[in-house]
Amino acid sequence: MARAPETYDAVVVGAGFAGMYMLHCLRKMGFSARVYEAGDGVGGTWYWNRYPGARCDIESLQYSYSFSEDLDQEWTWTEKYAPQPEILAYANHVADRFDLRRDIQFETRVTSAVYDETSHRWRVETDRGDIADAQFLIMAVGCLSAANKPEFPGLDGFEGEIYHTGEWPKEGVDFTGKRVAVIGTGSSAIQSIPIIAEQAKALTVFQRTPNYSVPAWNEELDPEYVAKVKATYPELRAKARARPTGFYFPFNLTSALDATPEERRKVYEEFWDRGGLPFLGAYSDLLFDKAANDTIADFAREKIRAVVDDPETADLLCPDNVFGCKRLCVDTGYYQTFNKPHVKLVDVSKTGVERITPHGVVAGGEEYAADAIVCATGFAAMTGSFDRIRIVGRNGLPLTKKWEAGPRTYLGITTVGFPNFFMITGPGSPSVLANMITSIEQHADWISDCLAHMRDIGAAEIEPTLPFEDDWVDHVNEVSEISLRSTCSSWYVGANIPGRPRVFMPYIGGFPIYVQKCNEVMEKGFEGFEFDKTPKRNAEPAVRMTERWRAELDLEVMSPAMIAARKVPVV
Ligand code: FAD
Ligand code: NAP
Repeated sequence: MARAPETYDAVVVGAGFAGMYMLHCLRKMGFSARVYEAGDGVGGTWYWNRYPGARCDIESLQYSYSFSEDLDQEWTWTEKYAPQPEILAYANHVADRFDLRRDIQFETRVTSAVYDETSHRWRVETDRGDIADAQFLIMAVGCLSAANKPEFPGLDGFEGEIYHTGEWPKEGVDFTGKRVAVIGTGSSAIQSIPIIAEQAKALTVFQRTPNYSVPAWNEELDPEYVAKVKATYPELRAKARARPTGFYFPFNLTSALDATPEERRKVYEEFWDRGGLPFLGAYSDLLFDKAANDTIADFAREKIRAVVDDPETADLLCPDNVFGCKRLCVDTGYYQTFNKPHVKLVDVSKTGVERITPHGVVAGGEEYAADAIVCATGFAAMTGSFDRIRIVGRNGLPLTKKWEAGPRTYLGITTVGFPNFFMITGPGSPSVLANMITSIEQHADWISDCLAHMRDIGAAEIEPTLPFEDDWVDHVNEVSEISLRSTCSSWYVGANIPGRPRVFMPYIGGFPIYVQKCNEVMEKGFEGFEFDKTPKRNAEPAVRMTERWRAELDLEVMSPAMIAARKVPVV
């Protein structure tokens, strides 16, 4: 007998930082909610990515929730860049602290969500046979959560162990005495390779495209420094929100091209010594002017060559594309690892990984023996987790069909044809180009206010309108063209996976400018949206949760001219 549907105001898919905070907000607003999570615990990214060396690359003191000052005060980060177990412990602490678990159903994957135009509600189904009936469907499925597992010929016949960094076994993996093959050289590979190399008997790294990486200079946090930050935490959070990246770091507003080579070297050395993503803050035009970018790319290649002993290996490790075009990597001892005699780099840029045999990996016609293969091959980014659910909107339209040529959204939060459907950090929002926890909180607050407004005015349905969605998509594309970031084959444009449409998916205009736009839309009575298909009902909303996102633009990093030209530096 079919199970009777459970009824909720909202169903939330995913219990990473987005789903957890969304649930907290919904409860605060008095809405009933059910969260479905495929994993058996909270934490999302930090639940799944347990590979050795996994840690954040935005400083922990900023890569954390900002909605509760008490939480900020009671939690103490121990390292500049917290390791995965500590971030997962933080997620669990938040779940306990705010009593979130009772509304989360774990080990349950949402398989289908269909909109009923008569009742204005979503019917959600899971792989465990649950059926939920909810007015609102909120996708907190993550931008980097659908693992990309290339179907290398012969993979099934491999007699050793196969791992993906994004689905790492909970019990960990001991590579001691093993011959390990790592496929991929993105952030996950770059973090894990030095540690795998410490254990493995032999390590072969298969590289399709080299990446730029900057040292993390990770360290234990000095308790005195932590106390100092905590004493003025609200100020730091406010400064971070006013930044294009949603996190704060020293930024140089001048042009790389106005400096002499000697001056530039001094500045690059200084920013290199600070390490990490803020290295891109050395000059303001690095992501907008190819000539400026060439100067930082040359510097980074010099650094690689200075570390790697074998000139051939060093050459292979030197990227020749735009610096920071693909997501910049942050490492601890990555390049040094290639000086170890048992570590080998194999270039597969021309032939790809040809096939897997029962005992190894074949590339360039040669077989490399392996007892274990680590696929550090990334994710079907931004839209992958949406594609893996059957989502059907108005007139039976599947979301995959609507997004066939690339995702189309209004503000990265909603999409035409899918009423009462919300995305946290969806494509078309700053999402992966900003501190993601900050992006998440701003979206969840905005969605909460929107839902409360609907309750206030008695609306059953909200949907964006096509002209506003089209304008937003055009704006997202236009802004992306100003940045050099749109010029290379990265996962930002879906290029890492064959067959995906090439569209620059995140909004690159900068976090505060985006926030202002969201606020403006709300203040104008949800401009660009229709409630119950009647635009007249766009009454003045009560701004509640969104109130805290009234950040001023930080003119220290964004001159009026840059804003006018929409040239906003983004890491
Ligand atoms: P996720 O954490 O991805 O959570 C989504 C959840 O949805 C998952 O638990 C998944 O199981 C669940 N889910 C998906 N589909 C379904 C379904 N159909 N049914 C049920 N459940 C489903 N960002 C930064 O800003 N700074 C960093 O330093 C940083 N480091 C990162 C390091 C790694 C290794 C990776 C992979 C990403 C990193 N990111 C970083 C990005 C990171 O994904 C975000 O910061 C943030 O954790 C995303 O939270 P989320 O809740 O939106 O998504
Ligand atoms: P990624 O950046 O997409 O890297 C995947 C790697 O696998 C790339 O080198 C890619 O080569 C290679 N690859 C993919 N398919 C392949 C194939 N069929 N054959 C050979 N090689 C293949 O993925 P990721 O390293 O998991 O990182 C994804 C994002 O997660 C990061 O950019 C970052 O935003 C986040 N992250 C952050 C951290 C952190 O430091 N905090 C750590 C990990 C991840 P190509 O480049 O040629 O496609």
